[in-house]
Amino acid sequence: MAEQGIGTKCVQSGYTPKNGEPRQIPIIQSTTFRYETGAEMAKLFDLESNGYFYTRLQNPTNDCVAAKIAALEGGTAGMLTSSGQAANFYAVFNIAGCGDHVVSSSSIYGGTFNLFAVTMKRMGVEFTFVSPDCSREELDAAFRPNTKAVFGETIANPALTVLDIERFADAAHAHGVPLIVDNTFATPVNCRPFAWGADIVTHSTTKYMDGHGAGVGGAIVDSGKFDWTRWPEKFAGLCTPDESYHGVTYTERFGLAGAFITKATAQLMRDFGSIQSPQNAFLLGLGLESLHVRMKRHCENALAVARYLSESDKVAWVRYPGLPGDEFHALAQKYMPEGTCGVVSFGVKGGREAAERFMGRLKIAAIETHVADARTCCLHPASTTHRQMSDAELAAAGVSPDLVRYSCGLEDAGDLIADIEQALA
Ligand SMILES: *Cc1c(COP(=O)(O)O)cnc(C)c1O
Repeated sequence: MAEQGIGTKCVQSGYTPKNGEPRQIPIIQSTTFRYETGAEMAKLFDLESNGYFYTRLQNPTNDCVAAKIAALEGGTAGMLTSSGQAANFYAVFNIAGCGDHVVSSSSIYGGTFNLFAVTMKRMGVEFTFVSPDCSREELDAAFRPNTKAVFGETIANPALTVLDIERFADAAHAHGVPLIVDNTFATPVNCRPFAWGADIVTHSTTKYMDGHGAGVGGAIVDSGKFDWTRWPEKFAGLCTPDESYHGVTYTERFGLAGAFITKATAQLMRDFGSIQSPQNAFLLGLGLESLHVRMKRHCENALAVARYLSESDKVAWVRYPGLPGDEFHALAQKYMPEGTCGVVSFGVKGGREAAERFMGRLKIAAIETHVADARTCCLHPASTTHRQMSDAELAAAGVSPDLVRYSCGLEDAGDLIADIEQALA
Protein backbone atom coordinates (compact mmCIF):
# COMPACT_ATOMS: atom_id res chain seq x y z
CA MET A 1 0.00 0.00 0.00
CA ALA A 2 1.24 3.53 -0.80
CA GLU A 3 2.34 5.63 2.16
CA GLN A 4 -0.69 7.15 3.84
CA GLY A 5 -1.32 10.88 3.74
CA ILE A 6 -0.74 13.02 6.81
CA GLY A 7 -4.49 13.33 7.46
CA THR A 8 -4.99 9.58 7.51
CA LYS A 9 -2.05 9.24 9.89
CA CYS A 10 -3.49 11.93 12.19
CA VAL A 11 -6.72 9.96 12.46
CA GLN A 12 -5.55 6.36 12.31
CA SER A 13 -1.96 5.85 13.41
CA GLY A 14 -0.61 4.92 16.84
CA TYR A 15 -3.42 2.66 18.03
CA THR A 16 -5.10 -0.25 16.27
CA PRO A 17 -7.56 -2.08 18.51
CA LYS A 18 -7.91 -5.82 18.16
CA ASN A 19 -11.23 -7.62 17.92
CA GLY A 20 -13.60 -6.44 20.66
CA GLU A 21 -11.17 -3.90 22.13
CA PRO A 22 -12.13 -0.26 22.79
CA ARG A 23 -12.17 1.94 19.66
CA GLN A 24 -10.67 4.92 21.45
CA ILE A 25 -7.29 4.68 23.21
CA PRO A 26 -7.92 3.45 26.76
CA ILE A 27 -6.65 5.71 29.54
CA ILE A 28 -4.46 3.41 31.61
CA GLN A 29 -4.78 5.37 34.83
CA SER A 30 -2.46 3.12 36.79
CA THR A 31 0.90 3.84 38.34
CA THR A 32 1.94 0.21 38.31
CA PHE A 33 1.54 -3.12 36.53
CA ARG A 34 1.16 -6.61 38.00
CA TYR A 35 3.44 -9.60 37.33
CA GLU A 36 3.22 -13.26 38.33
CA THR A 37 6.88 -13.72 39.11
CA GLY A 38 9.72 -11.53 40.28
CA ALA A 39 11.89 -12.96 37.53
CA GLU A 40 9.63 -11.49 34.85
CA MET A 41 9.86 -8.08 36.41
CA ALA A 42 13.62 -8.34 36.81
CA LYS A 43 13.90 -8.79 33.05
CA LEU A 44 12.05 -5.51 32.55
CA PHE A 45 14.43 -3.76 34.92
CA ASP A 46 17.38 -5.05 32.90
CA LEU A 47 15.73 -3.92 29.63
CA GLU A 48 15.79 -7.58 28.54
CA SER A 49 12.11 -7.73 27.78
CA ASN A 50 9.51 -5.18 26.79
CA GLY A 51 6.73 -4.24 29.13
CA TYR A 52 5.41 -1.77 31.63
CA PHE A 53 6.19 -1.68 35.31
CA TYR A 54 5.92 1.89 36.56
CA THR A 55 4.27 4.93 34.95
CA ARG A 56 7.14 7.26 35.90
CA LEU A 57 9.02 5.62 32.99
CA GLN A 58 6.37 4.43 30.55
CA ASN A 59 2.62 4.06 30.22
CA PRO A 60 0.63 2.34 27.43
CA THR A 61 -1.65 5.35 26.80
CA ASN A 62 1.36 7.61 26.37
CA ASP A 63 3.07 5.13 24.08
CA CYS A 64 0.08 4.96 21.68
CA VAL A 65 0.07 8.75 21.38
CA ALA A 66 3.86 8.91 21.06
CA ALA A 67 3.63 6.32 18.27
CA LYS A 68 1.09 8.52 16.47
CA ILE A 69 3.44 11.53 16.66
CA ALA A 70 6.38 9.37 15.51
CA ALA A 71 4.30 8.23 12.53
CA LEU A 72 3.37 11.82 11.68
CA GLU A 73 7.02 12.89 11.72
CA GLY A 74 8.17 9.77 9.86
CA GLY A 75 10.43 8.72 12.75
CA THR A 76 11.38 5.35 14.19
CA ALA A 77 10.60 5.98 17.87
CA GLY A 78 8.95 8.60 20.04
CA MET A 79 8.19 9.47 23.64
CA LEU A 80 5.95 11.92 25.46
CA THR A 81 7.20 14.25 28.15
CA SER A 82 5.38 16.38 30.72
CA SER A 83 6.07 19.60 28.76
CA GLY A 84 7.86 21.04 25.77
CA GLN A 85 10.56 22.27 28.14
CA ALA A 86 11.17 18.70 29.32
CA ALA A 87 11.27 17.49 25.69
CA ASN A 88 13.96 19.98 24.70
CA PHE A 89 15.93 19.37 27.89
CA TYR A 90 15.85 15.58 27.42
CA ALA A 91 16.65 15.76 23.70
CA VAL A 92 19.80 17.78 24.38
CA PHE A 93 20.85 16.28 27.72
CA ASN A 94 20.53 12.74 26.30
CA ILE A 95 23.72 13.41 24.31
CA ALA A 96 25.32 16.53 25.86
CA GLY A 97 26.44 16.63 29.50
CA CYS A 98 28.86 18.53 31.70
CA GLY A 99 31.85 19.69 29.63
CA ASP A 100 29.98 19.49 26.32
CA HIS A 101 28.91 22.18 23.90
CA VAL A 102 25.86 22.78 21.67
CA VAL A 103 25.30 25.18 18.77
CA SER A 104 21.82 26.72 18.80
CA SER A 105 19.93 29.17 16.67
CA SER A 106 19.48 32.37 18.70
CA SER A 107 15.94 32.69 17.36
CA ILE A 108 14.16 30.30 19.72
CA TYR A 109 11.40 30.26 22.33
CA GLY A 110 12.27 32.35 25.41
CA GLY A 111 11.83 29.40 27.77
CA THR A 112 14.21 27.29 25.72
CA PHE A 113 16.73 30.12 25.59
CA ASN A 114 16.64 30.36 29.37
CA LEU A 115 16.91 26.57 29.74
CA PHE A 116 20.02 26.55 27.54
CA ALA A 117 21.74 29.82 28.48
CA VAL A 118 21.11 29.70 32.23
CA THR A 119 20.00 26.34 33.63
CA MET A 120 21.91 23.95 31.38
CA LYS A 121 24.93 26.23 31.58
CA ARG A 122 24.83 25.67 35.35
CA MET A 123 24.90 21.95 34.59
CA GLY A 124 28.09 22.46 32.58
CA VAL A 125 26.69 22.47 29.04
CA GLU A 126 27.88 25.49 27.02
CA PHE A 127 25.82 26.94 24.16
CA THR A 128 26.89 29.11 21.26
CA PHE A 129 23.98 31.02 19.74
CA VAL A 130 24.05 31.83 16.04
CA SER A 131 21.66 33.90 13.96
CA PRO A 132 19.29 31.69 11.93
CA ASP A 133 20.42 33.53 8.79
CA CYS A 134 24.16 33.41 9.57
CA SER A 135 26.53 32.41 6.78
CA ARG A 136 27.93 28.89 6.51
CA GLU A 137 31.31 30.27 7.63
CA GLU A 138 29.81 31.75 10.80
CA LEU A 139 27.97 28.49 11.43
CA ASP A 140 31.13 26.41 10.95
CA ALA A 141 33.05 28.74 13.27
CA ALA A 142 30.59 28.03 16.10
CA PHE A 143 31.60 24.36 16.38
CA ARG A 144 34.15 23.10 18.91
CA PRO A 145 35.77 19.67 19.40
CA ASN A 146 33.25 19.01 22.24
CA THR A 147 30.14 20.06 20.27
CA LYS A 148 27.43 17.39 20.53
CA ALA A 149 24.41 18.81 18.71
CA VAL A 150 22.87 21.68 16.76
CA PHE A 151 19.45 23.05 17.76
CA GLY A 152 16.84 25.25 16.04
CA GLU A 153 13.09 25.85 15.66
CA THR A 154 11.33 25.26 12.31
CA ILE A 155 9.36 28.49 12.86
CA ALA A 156 10.66 30.35 15.88
CA ASN A 157 8.28 31.38 18.67
CA PRO A 158 7.67 34.34 18.68
CA ALA A 159 10.12 35.78 16.12
CA LEU A 160 8.60 33.70 13.25
CA THR A 161 11.97 33.26 11.57
CA VAL A 162 12.17 30.10 9.45
CA LEU A 163 15.10 27.75 9.99
CA ASP A 164 16.99 26.74 6.84
CA ILE A 165 16.84 23.10 7.94
CA GLU A 166 18.97 21.71 5.10
CA ARG A 167 21.74 24.22 5.69
CA PHE A 168 21.82 23.61 9.44
CA ALA A 169 21.64 19.83 8.92
CA ASP A 170 24.53 19.93 6.43
CA ALA A 171 26.68 21.90 8.85
CA ALA A 172 25.77 19.61 11.78
CA HIS A 173 26.57 16.48 9.79
CA ALA A 174 29.85 17.94 8.45
CA HIS A 175 30.88 18.26 12.12
CA GLY A 176 29.60 14.79 13.05
CA VAL A 177 26.66 15.83 15.24
CA PRO A 178 22.85 15.59 14.90
CA LEU A 179 20.42 18.43 14.20
CA ILE A 180 17.60 18.71 16.74
CA VAL A 181 14.59 20.68 15.46
CA ASP A 182 11.73 21.96 17.61
CA ASN A 183 8.82 21.58 15.18
CA THR A 184 6.11 22.95 17.51
CA PHE A 185 4.82 25.81 15.35
CA ALA A 186 4.83 24.12 11.94
CA THR A 187 3.65 20.71 13.23
CA PRO A 188 4.28 17.63 11.06
CA VAL A 189 1.18 18.58 9.05
CA ASN A 190 3.05 21.53 7.53
CA CYS A 191 6.71 20.48 7.83
CA ARG A 192 8.51 17.19 8.34
CA PRO A 193 12.08 18.15 9.29
CA PHE A 194 13.40 14.57 8.85
CA ALA A 195 12.79 14.89 5.10
CA TRP A 196 15.26 17.80 5.10
CA GLY A 197 18.03 16.16 7.13
CA ALA A 198 17.04 16.81 10.76
CA ASP A 199 17.81 13.88 13.07
CA ILE A 200 15.70 14.50 16.18
CA VAL A 201 12.42 16.43 16.40
CA THR A 202 10.87 17.88 19.55
CA HIS A 203 7.45 19.35 20.27
CA SER A 204 5.61 21.36 22.80
CA THR A 205 2.39 19.36 22.34
CA THR A 206 0.76 22.05 24.50
CA LYS A 207 0.34 24.07 21.30
CA TYR A 208 -1.34 22.93 18.05
CA MET A 209 -1.11 19.20 18.75
CA ASP A 210 -3.34 19.43 21.82
CA GLY A 211 -4.85 22.49 20.18
CA HIS A 212 -7.48 23.27 22.80
CA GLY A 213 -5.44 24.65 25.69
CA ALA A 214 -6.26 21.54 27.69
CA GLY A 215 -2.95 19.96 28.62
CA VAL A 216 0.73 20.89 28.88
CA GLY A 217 2.95 18.29 27.22
CA GLY A 218 5.92 17.54 25.02
CA ALA A 219 7.25 14.92 22.65
CA ILE A 220 10.56 13.74 21.21
CA VAL A 221 10.86 11.76 17.96
CA ASP A 222 14.00 10.11 16.59
CA SER A 223 14.51 9.70 12.83
CA GLY A 224 16.75 6.70 13.49
CA LYS A 225 19.07 8.04 10.80
CA PHE A 226 21.94 9.50 12.79
CA ASP A 227 24.74 6.92 13.11
CA TRP A 228 26.03 7.43 16.65
CA THR A 229 28.40 4.47 16.24
CA ARG A 230 30.56 6.42 13.78
CA TRP A 231 31.71 8.50 16.78
CA PRO A 232 31.54 6.04 19.70
CA GLU A 233 33.64 8.24 21.97
CA LYS A 234 31.69 11.40 21.25
CA PHE A 235 28.38 9.63 21.92
CA ALA A 236 29.69 7.32 24.63
CA GLY A 237 26.35 7.28 26.46
CA LEU A 238 24.73 5.59 23.47
CA CYS A 239 27.68 3.46 22.29
CA THR A 240 29.24 2.12 25.51
CA PRO A 241 27.74 0.02 28.32
CA ASP A 242 25.32 1.70 30.74
CA GLU A 243 26.30 0.39 34.17
CA SER A 244 22.95 1.48 35.61
CA TYR A 245 21.32 -1.16 33.34
CA HIS A 246 23.69 -4.09 33.83
CA GLY A 247 25.94 -2.98 31.00
CA VAL A 248 23.44 -2.62 28.16
CA THR A 249 24.82 -0.71 25.16
CA TYR A 250 21.86 1.15 23.65
CA THR A 251 23.03 1.18 20.03
CA GLU A 252 23.82 -2.55 20.13
CA ARG A 253 20.64 -3.70 21.86
CA PHE A 254 18.13 -1.32 20.26
CA GLY A 255 19.81 -0.36 16.98
CA LEU A 256 19.89 3.14 15.52
CA ALA A 257 16.08 3.09 15.33
CA GLY A 258 15.59 2.75 19.07
CA ALA A 259 18.78 3.71 20.90
CA PHE A 260 18.12 7.42 21.46
CA ILE A 261 14.55 7.13 22.75
CA THR A 262 15.27 4.03 24.84
CA LYS A 263 18.19 5.78 26.55
CA ALA A 264 16.09 8.92 27.18
CA THR A 265 13.32 6.76 28.67
CA ALA A 266 15.54 4.42 30.66
CA GLN A 267 17.86 7.07 32.10
CA LEU A 268 16.29 10.51 31.94
CA MET A 269 12.66 9.54 32.54
CA ARG A 270 13.76 7.16 35.30
CA ASP A 271 15.85 9.82 37.02
CA PHE A 272 13.93 13.05 36.32
CA GLY A 273 10.43 11.61 35.93
CA SER A 274 9.01 14.29 33.62
CA ILE A 275 6.30 11.97 32.31
CA GLN A 276 3.03 13.15 30.80
CA SER A 277 -0.04 11.94 32.70
CA PRO A 278 -2.04 9.28 30.80
CA GLN A 279 -5.10 11.56 31.05
CA ASN A 280 -3.24 14.37 29.28
CA ALA A 281 -1.88 11.92 26.72
CA PHE A 282 -5.47 10.87 25.97
CA LEU A 283 -6.51 14.51 25.42
CA LEU A 284 -3.45 15.00 23.22
CA GLY A 285 -4.46 11.96 21.19
CA LEU A 286 -7.92 13.48 20.65
CA GLY A 287 -6.34 16.74 19.52
CA LEU A 288 -4.07 14.96 17.05
CA GLU A 289 -7.04 13.32 15.34
CA SER A 290 -8.05 16.72 13.92
CA LEU A 291 -4.61 18.37 13.65
CA HIS A 292 -4.60 18.35 9.83
CA VAL A 293 -8.07 19.96 9.64
CA ARG A 294 -7.29 22.57 12.28
CA MET A 295 -3.86 23.57 10.90
CA LYS A 296 -5.43 24.43 7.58
CA ARG A 297 -7.91 26.78 9.25
CA HIS A 298 -5.30 28.32 11.58
CA CYS A 299 -3.15 29.11 8.51
CA GLU A 300 -6.04 30.51 6.46
CA ASN A 301 -7.06 32.80 9.32
CA ALA A 302 -3.47 33.92 9.92
CA LEU A 303 -2.93 34.75 6.25
CA ALA A 304 -6.14 36.81 6.18
CA VAL A 305 -5.15 38.67 9.37
CA ALA A 306 -1.57 39.21 8.14
CA ARG A 307 -2.90 40.61 4.84
CA TYR A 308 -5.23 42.99 6.69
CA LEU A 309 -2.47 44.17 9.06
CA SER A 310 0.02 44.68 6.23
CA GLU A 311 -2.45 47.07 4.58
CA SER A 312 -3.30 49.03 7.75
CA ASP A 313 -1.70 52.45 8.23
CA LYS A 314 -1.82 51.95 12.04
CA VAL A 315 0.59 49.02 11.87
CA ALA A 316 4.37 49.60 11.69
CA TRP A 317 5.38 46.16 10.43
CA VAL A 318 4.02 42.59 10.03
CA ARG A 319 5.90 39.32 10.21
CA TYR A 320 4.20 36.20 8.87
CA PRO A 321 6.24 33.68 6.88
CA GLY A 322 3.14 32.74 4.87
CA LEU A 323 2.76 36.32 3.60
CA PRO A 324 4.31 37.06 0.19
CA GLY A 325 6.99 39.69 0.70
CA ASP A 326 7.92 38.44 4.17
CA GLU A 327 11.66 38.07 4.73
CA PHE A 328 11.21 34.34 5.33
CA HIS A 329 8.55 33.68 2.69
CA ALA A 330 10.95 31.93 0.30
CA LEU A 331 12.20 29.55 3.02
CA ALA A 332 8.62 28.96 4.15
CA GLN A 333 7.62 28.10 0.56
CA LYS A 334 10.46 25.60 0.40
CA TYR A 335 9.86 23.86 3.73
CA MET A 336 6.11 24.47 4.23
CA PRO A 337 4.42 24.98 0.87
CA GLU A 338 0.96 24.15 2.25
CA GLY A 339 1.01 26.55 5.18
CA THR A 340 3.16 27.72 8.07
CA CYS A 341 1.38 28.40 11.36
CA GLY A 342 -1.44 30.48 12.83
CA VAL A 343 0.75 33.00 14.60
CA VAL A 344 1.32 36.51 13.24
CA SER A 345 3.71 39.04 14.79
CA PHE A 346 3.38 42.75 14.25
CA GLY A 347 4.21 46.16 15.66
CA VAL A 348 1.54 48.76 16.36
CA LYS A 349 2.60 52.31 15.47
CA GLY A 350 3.39 54.07 18.74
CA GLY A 351 5.61 51.30 20.14
CA ARG A 352 5.35 49.39 23.38
CA GLU A 353 2.67 51.57 24.96
CA ALA A 354 0.43 51.54 21.88
CA ALA A 355 0.84 47.75 21.70
CA GLU A 356 -0.41 47.34 25.27
CA ARG A 357 -3.34 49.72 24.69
CA PHE A 358 -4.32 47.91 21.49
CA MET A 359 -4.28 44.53 23.22
CA GLY A 360 -6.44 45.78 26.06
CA ARG A 361 -9.16 46.78 23.54
CA LEU A 362 -9.41 43.44 21.73
CA LYS A 363 -12.70 41.67 22.47
CA ILE A 364 -12.32 38.25 20.83
CA ALA A 365 -8.57 37.77 21.27
CA ALA A 366 -7.71 37.23 24.92
CA ILE A 367 -4.39 38.19 26.48
CA GLU A 368 -2.76 34.88 27.39
CA THR A 369 0.67 33.32 27.85
CA HIS A 370 -0.28 30.80 25.24
CA VAL A 371 -0.38 30.31 21.49
CA ALA A 372 -1.66 27.83 18.99
CA ASP A 373 -5.06 27.36 20.57
CA ALA A 374 -8.53 26.97 19.06
CA ARG A 375 -9.35 30.38 20.61
CA THR A 376 -7.51 33.44 19.38
CA CYS A 377 -5.09 34.88 21.90
CA CYS A 378 -2.32 37.46 21.98
CA LEU A 379 0.69 38.43 24.03
CA HIS A 380 3.32 41.13 24.42
CA PRO A 381 6.50 39.00 24.74
CA ALA A 382 8.88 41.80 25.78
CA SER A 383 6.93 42.35 29.01
CA THR A 384 6.02 38.68 29.65
CA THR A 385 7.66 35.51 28.25
CA HIS A 386 10.86 37.30 27.27
CA ARG A 387 11.11 39.78 30.14
CA GLN A 388 14.25 38.11 31.62
CA MET A 389 16.19 39.01 28.48
CA SER A 390 18.39 42.04 27.95
CA ASP A 391 17.69 44.34 24.97
CA ALA A 392 20.60 42.74 23.09
CA GLU A 393 19.26 39.24 23.78
CA LEU A 394 15.78 40.37 22.73
CA ALA A 395 17.19 41.69 19.46
CA ALA A 396 19.10 38.43 18.87
CA ALA A 397 15.89 36.48 19.52
CA GLY A 398 14.09 38.69 17.00
CA VAL A 399 11.75 40.23 19.59
CA SER A 400 11.33 44.00 19.35
CA PRO A 401 9.78 45.95 22.26
CA ASP A 402 6.64 46.70 20.21
CA LEU A 403 6.09 43.09 19.04
CA VAL A 404 2.56 41.74 19.51
CA ARG A 405 2.24 37.98 19.07
CA TYR A 406 -1.24 37.27 17.71
CA SER A 407 -2.26 33.63 17.58
CA CYS A 408 -5.18 33.05 15.21
CA GLY A 409 -7.66 30.50 16.47
CA LEU A 410 -10.34 28.66 14.57
CA GLU A 411 -12.97 31.43 14.57
CA ASP A 412 -14.18 33.18 11.39
CA ALA A 413 -11.44 35.34 9.90
CA GLY A 414 -13.92 38.19 9.29
CA ASP A 415 -14.69 38.40 13.01
CA LEU A 416 -11.00 38.42 13.95
CA ILE A 417 -10.28 41.21 11.49
CA ALA A 418 -13.29 43.26 12.69
CA ASP A 419 -12.01 42.86 16.27
CA ILE A 420 -8.52 44.04 15.29
CA GLU A 421 -10.01 46.93 13.30
CA GLN A 422 -12.02 48.30 16.24
CA ALA A 423 -9.06 47.90 18.63
CA LEU A 424 -6.70 49.72 16.24
CA ALA A 425 -9.25 52.50 15.80
C1 LIG B 1 5.77 26.63 24.19
C2 LIG B 1 7.01 26.20 23.53
C3 LIG B 1 7.97 25.43 24.20
C4 LIG B 1 7.82 25.05 25.65
O1 LIG B 1 6.77 24.15 25.77
P1 LIG B 1 5.89 23.96 27.12
O2 LIG B 1 4.96 22.90 26.71
O3 LIG B 1 5.26 25.26 27.44
O4 LIG B 1 6.86 23.51 28.17
C5 LIG B 1 9.09 25.02 23.50
N1 LIG B 1 9.26 25.37 22.21
C6 LIG B 1 8.37 26.11 21.54
C7 LIG B 1 8.62 26.45 20.10
C8 LIG B 1 7.21 26.54 22.16
O5 LIG B 1 6.32 27.28 21.49
